[in-house]
Amino acid sequence: MTSINVYHFMPDKLNLYGDIGNIIALKKRANWRGIEVNVTDVKETAGLSLSDADILFIGGGSDREQAIATQELFRIKDDFKAAIEDGVPALTICGGYQFLGEKYVTPDGQELQGLNILDFYTESKKERLTGNIVIESETFGQIVGFENHGGRTYHPYDTLGRVVSGFGNNDTDKKEGLHYKNLLGTYLHGPILPKNHEMTDYLLEAACERKNIPFSPLTDNTAEENAKKVIIDRLLAEQ
Ligand code: GLN
Repeated sequence: MTSINVYHFMPDKLNLYGDIGNIIALKKRANWRGIEVNVTDVKETAGLSLSDADILFIGGGSDREQAIATQELFRIKDDFKAAIEDGVPALTICGGYQFLGEKYVTPDGQELQGLNILDFYTESKKERLTGNIVIESETFGQIVGFENHGGRTYHPYDTLGRVVSGFGNNDTDKKEGLHYKNLLGTYLHGPILPKNHEMTDYLLEAACERKNIPFSPLTDNTAEENAKKVIIDRLLAEQ
């Protein structure tokens, strides 16, 4: 059986609102195609090599847990950046997304160093941006999820899409997430991948392409699409 390797960073600290469900979705949709997924849980980064990583994943966390995770993640920032520049697909959520920038400034002014993979930073306020969210994405169609963050992120890169309902990157520009090469950053929990199979397949397809593993579409996504439609209809009706 062909296989791909998923590196899951700090699963014990960065795992809010069911972020682990993203790993389950990657496994499931890969298995349905006859592809095995090996998951490496990275809790410590000393001596870690990313040379066989096919997908990178970082979930979200509270400010306290982010501060602890920062110290571990900082050690592999050069390897992480090299992998992203090389086109390794990655999903980073909320706290994980904020780590891509130069720094995350907490509401009380504490500066947590980011991985500095891209040129932006995030500032947090006490007032949180919380609730269900719908975005319209040119690449993925409609995306649904749940957000709960104090961080306000502004960046010059491509985004995941335009916010139709909810907040997204901040409380002003109606943009959500980040898309750079095969890296996706987003404020959406939910978990996002089970709710949005198009994004799951995007990551899997990019990983397979880099490894020359044949990748075919799944013929029946009716259950996933019906589930998404229920949420979208409910949210847009509430507006
Ligand atoms: N602690 C960060 C914030 O509040 C990230 C939260 C999260 O990952 N949900 O912005």
